[in-house]
Parts: sequence; C-alpha cells; structure tokens
Amino acid sequence: MSVEEQAGRFPLANATTSVAAAATFRDPDAARRRTLIAFGYYFVLVAMMLHGMDSILPDRITVIFFGRVYSTGNIHNQAVGACLFAFIIVPAAIMGEMLIVGWVNSSLRHLLFVRTPSSRSDLIVFLLWQCHVMAAVQVLLTFGIALLSGLWVHDWLLAQTGFDLGLSAMPAPTAFAGYVLLFTFFDYWTHRLDHTRYFWPSHRYHHSAEDFYVITSNRGTPGVITARLASTIPLGILGMPPETAFWIYILVGTHHLVIHSRIDSDFGWAGRYLLQSPVHHRLHHIRDRSLPTAHFSLMPVWDHLFGTWRGGGSQRIVIGVDVPYRHGFWVLPDLWRDYREFITGFIPAGFFRRR
Ligand SMILES: [Zn+2]
Ligand SMILES: [Zn+2]
Repeated sequence: MSVEEQAGRFPLANATTSVAAAATFRDPDAARRRTLIAFGYYFVLVAMMLHGMDSILPDRITVIFFGRVYSTGNIHNQAVGACLFAFIIVPAAIMGEMLIVGWVNSSLRHLLFVRTPSSRSDLIVFLLWQCHVMAAVQVLLTFGIALLSGLWVHDWLLAQTGFDLGLSAMPAPTAFAGYVLLFTFFDYWTHRLDHTRYFWPSHRYHHSAEDFYVITSNRGTPGVITARLASTIPLGILGMPPETAFWIYILVGTHHLVIHSRIDSDFGWAGRYLLQSPVHHRLHHIRDRSLPTAHFSLMPVWDHLFGTWRGGGSQRIVIGVDVPYRHGFWVLPDLWRDYREFITGFIPAGFFRRR
C-alpha cells in the first residue's frame, strides 16, 4: 500500500500525521537517524538557552512595594532546576530508550504516530503536571496536607534539646546515600498503603495505563498524598536538607521514567537488589490479579525483606485494571471519579442517611 493510500484510510485531520507515520514504517532506520539529529539540535538549543539565561535573567530581583523591600535570590539555580526535568531529563530518557529498543518500538513513535486513548491520557497528564497545574490542584484536593513538611519538627527538636535527629554528622556522600535508602524504605511502605482498600482508588489511575511510554511515570491523580508524604514528613523530621530532597526528586524521577520504558530488561543482579527494572515494574502493573501484587519498591531489597518479590516479568505482560476508564481526553472526569471514590471510601456506610 502506498503512503498516499495508507494516509487515505485515516480521517482528514490526521492525514499529515498518517503520512509521516507511513514514512517511518517505510524506512525506520532513516526515521531513527532523523530523530537522533533532531534530538542533537534540541539539546544544543536547550544548552544555549540555559547558558544564555545567566546574561538575560538577573540572579536576584528586588522590588520596593509601598516602602517595603521584597527580594528573591538564587534565580539562576531555581530556573535551571525547573527546566532540568521537563526539558532535559525526559527528552534524554525518551532518546535513550529509543536507542535501546529501536525506533519502531519506541515510546516516541507510539506517542507521535500510534496514539491510543491510554497514551493520549499519558500526554495530557504529563503536560498538566509539568505546567504545575496538577501540583496546585493537589494542594486543594489534599486539604493542604501536600504542603506539610517534617523539617520544622526537626528544627524545633534541635532548638529545644540540641539533639539532631538527622544525618548531618555523617560525611556528605554517606548522608546522601542514607537519605536515599530511607526514601526508598518510606516509598515502599506508602506504595504498599496505595494498594490497600482505602487508598487504591487514589493509585488506580496510575495502574489504568494500558501500555508503557516513558512518561507513563507521570500518570497519577493529584489527590494522592501517600507518595508525597514519604518524602516530606518522615524525611523532614529526619532532617533531610532541601538540596538533598531536590536531588532525590531528580534521581527518583529519572528512575520512574526508566521503569515505565519499553526496555525489555530485568537489569540482572542490579535489578534483583538495587534498582527496580522495567520488566519487574511491568509485572507490578499486571492486569491479572489472581496472584498477590509484587514489586513495590524502587530498591528491590525491600521487596525481598518484606516478602513482595516475585521475579520474572516481560514487556509482553498485559497491564491495566478491570475498572473501566474512558482515557483519551476524558482525563478530568476519570480523575474526578477516582477522587470521589477515594474520599467517600473513608465515610462509613449510611453516614449521611437521614433519621
Ligand atoms: Zn502500584
Ligand atoms: Zn508504574
């Protein structure tokens, strides 16, 4: 079938996309080369923008308003931090995955040319999180709990008793490794909590994905509080400095992209003990729930310790949930339904019955 014939089978609005898609099927290697070159230009452009930011943006802004002086500093670092994930790490993960699995099987080709209702949801949710819309909604839906930090408890204890609950006495690299270990421990248990009857409706949207596309890692409801609490309350009380929290957020965010990739690997020995692999995470997402859910931890050593390690897994495993989702552009109704179910799950049956 010619490119034109193939394009003719799709609605008019999709004609351009369809021609491009058909062209990529015709010569996947050329498409892969072109995409790599495009990524090359893209990274050079981003590097130039970040470099140019030093001369365009001042590092400190001071405003005098009704006689009061308002000042904010360290703007360069904050701007680089904000751009790092969305504009560098995510594109690098998408490119890295493409180099490993090939263009035809890549997340990029699926997101651009083989879109499904589930991948459309992934794209929309990803954009809503990256524009900070979801984070703002999260503060509302969690009644401000998402803003809580345990750091003030740590600082109060330190001021009152002189006793530092944190790891600040350790050399910096050991303290950082300690906080990573602690983070994975709390993350394991909050993820276990997510799979209990009460919290499942707030985590189910993540599991409703019908395939993996790297950015599926961002697929999550803003009503979920457990994952946030893992890093803010206990680790705050244990004195985790904000810079450490930032770098753990970057590391964990990158790992999340990798485990939601289409890479068909169990990472060998490292995947058994140190870093969860994409196939083990796919097994965690399995649709068939006849066996207890396994592989909760980003660091599998906790799965071994607490009896949730199963092993095996492959990219061919069918994933998803039995509850119907509309996907596609129905992101908001789907998320609202789950949030309502999550909140009403805590209200005892018959609570609102009139007497
Ligand atoms: Zn889960
Ligand atoms: Zn997942």
